[in-house]
Amino acid sequence: MFWWQDEVGQGVRVAFTDRGAGNLALHTGDDADAVRARRAALERSMGVPGGSLVFLEQVHGTDVADADRGDRPAVPTADAAVTATGVPLAVMVADCVPVVLVGKGPRGPLAGVAHAGRRGLLDGVLERTVEQLVARGGRGLSAWLGPSICGHCYEVPADMREESVQRIPAVAATTSWGTPALDLRAGARERLAALGVGVVEPSAAGSSCTRENEQLSSHRRDPGSGRIVGLVWRARPRGEDAP
Ligand SMILES: [Zn+2]
Repeated sequence: MFWWQDEVGQGVRVAFTDRGAGNLALHTGDDADAVRARRAALERSMGVPGGSLVFLEQVHGTDVADADRGDRPAVPTADAAVTATGVPLAVMVADCVPVVLVGKGPRGPLAGVAHAGRRGLLDGVLERTVEQLVARGGRGLSAWLGPSICGHCYEVPADMREESVQRIPAVAATTSWGTPALDLRAGARERLAALGVGVVEPSAAGSSCTRENEQLSSHRRDPGSGRIVGLVWRARPRGEDAP
């Protein structure tokens, strides 16, 4: 079910699913009841209450949802979310980079997720997410980059590479077959480092490239393979944090 998971400190867990968890997206034409059953199974594996995991309506934008707001929609339209109260968060991907952020806040850990595809990355979704965490008193931020398509696989038209490289030079890449490509991970790594955020790139069984590793969902390799997710949640109930 999990490609990788670990407790990252402060009682916070970070994980990325693989295809063992099945498609977790409601927007890819899959049977909605089947998706809901998989999401419920995922919540049980995480040990969080049923229905508590917040998914987003992702639109390749830069809006950051405040998961703590009592009046937020059940499924906010946003490509990132933050919490200071331990709300479990999910971000869906199938080639884009799932980014999970964790830091120390004034009253316990802060956490966030972001969907860093080409558009969102270039438009600043990571900057906006970090800004929201810092605005909540976040410090000592670290980011975990989950599985995504690699720079040797993500072929794009030459003009798209040019436009992207002008914004973030680190995304320049060439496919293993010699055509223009983008390295979104390198771009995310560079943006986060520039923001002073420590970057962690977990390694697990098989490649972290979604296109090369059939245990992961890749829109490029198989548009029907659905979405995997990046996750962050509190392993211990609130109030049990170590001093
Ligand atoms: Zn690859």
